[in-house]
Amino acid sequence: MTALPELVGKTYWVRTFGCQMNLHDAERVSGLLDECGCICVSDPNEADIVVFMTCCVRENADQRLYGQASAMVSAPAPPSGRRVVAIGGCIAQRDGEKIREHIACADVVFGTSALASLPGLLAEAFSDDGHAVEVDTVEEGRPFSTELPSHRESPFHAWVPIMTGCDNFCSYCIVPHVRGRERSRTMESVVAEVEQLVADGVREVTLLGQNVNSYGRNIYGEPRFAELLRRVSATGVERIRFTSSNPKDLTDDVIAAMAELPNVMPHLHLAVQSGSTRVLKAMNRRYTREAYLELVGRLRAAMPGLALSTDIIVGFPGETEEDFLDTLSLVREAGFSSAYTFIYSRRPGTPAAKIPDDTPREVIQDRFDRLAALVAKQAHEANQADLGSVARVLVEGPSKHDPAVMVGHSEKNQTVHFPLPEGRAVEDLVGAIVDVRVEEARTWYLRGSVEGDPR
Ligand code: SF4
Repeated sequence: MTALPELVGKTYWVRTFGCQMNLHDAERVSGLLDECGCICVSDPNEADIVVFMTCCVRENADQRLYGQASAMVSAPAPPSGRRVVAIGGCIAQRDGEKIREHIACADVVFGTSALASLPGLLAEAFSDDGHAVEVDTVEEGRPFSTELPSHRESPFHAWVPIMTGCDNFCSYCIVPHVRGRERSRTMESVVAEVEQLVADGVREVTLLGQNVNSYGRNIYGEPRFAELLRRVSATGVERIRFTSSNPKDLTDDVIAAMAELPNVMPHLHLAVQSGSTRVLKAMNRRYTREAYLELVGRLRAAMPGLALSTDIIVGFPGETEEDFLDTLSLVREAGFSSAYTFIYSRRPGTPAAKIPDDTPREVIQDRFDRLAALVAKQAHEANQADLGSVARVLVEGPSKHDPAVMVGHSEKNQTVHFPLPEGRAVEDLVGAIVDVRVEEARTWYLRGSVEGDPR
């Protein structure tokens, strides 16, 4: 990288909104700034460079961003006297220069494919008088962000993007309009990255894409996700997760690979969005309620211990009480052990935004509350079923509320708490894999004690 004297010694702070892809991109932004000689700080008021990695999936994420970014206008100047505010991620890609209509203090706008341009844009912003906005939202011909240096949040877990963009055009979703069409990395590039991560001590990888099941289609002419899973498994990485999966593309060869490969974790996040075939059609999801449940049946037959989670949208335009009851019954039949539930958020520029809807807000809120209660009940029951068993936990660190309690995730992705064993230091356990005997099962976490030695 060309040396940029304008950036050496500058302090920076990054705030990330939205999905795992943004978390990964934020790690690359930090990696790039580290390489330019910048210093990460934990307080935005002390930062010369403030970066917001934005998300436009839901309206409230826009509003939170506008609130937090605008607060930088009245924030005290950093010790150096000049602060540059940079906006990246999906809103930057969508709005470009127009972002200044909402965030007057934006100095730099860099799109989802323009991470590598950020240092140059920042250097230009520091060199001018603060009146111009430096913009780069070009997508074509840009390398994957994964080829850039990374400053990983965790030494033992890594996000590994395998593809970007989406070809599905679900009628409520802005992603294909913002992140463009599907583009996969080559298998060799993904495998080489995971091999390097393993050599660096990473124990768990999460393969990322908007629709991982169609991985490879634009390179190899057909999806090759099952083969990718097998090759990533052969690197010897101890735990493999992946997200997101679209049910319409989840094929039997992927199910067979998940069932056979011991390092693919027994948890699948499979977004259903609605239990009503009529609503699924209006969403352009391209599967029916029956096809989804049949797929769940095949998954459970192949992997009886599989934990299944999902995403559900409540209040899609035109959703009736009958449609909603179909969603509740599907949640029961599929046996989800957790779910991210959302009230439909209208995104300008999507087909669903044009569908008229006069369902009162209170009706939608009531449906949301009923769904949330059912999801909580099933989460509690699923955790109760694990009482007395041993959960294999990758330890992340001490609890924010109690430093004597350690927190990690089980293979089924449950949050697990356990007291720091006597004679053990926190540092011995962070990044270790331990067996925890489950003694208490709450709705959103398990609690127990460690058996045997950490690995
Ligand atoms: S699969 Fe549908 S919801 Fe997911 S990113 Fe693509 S268009 Fe959006």
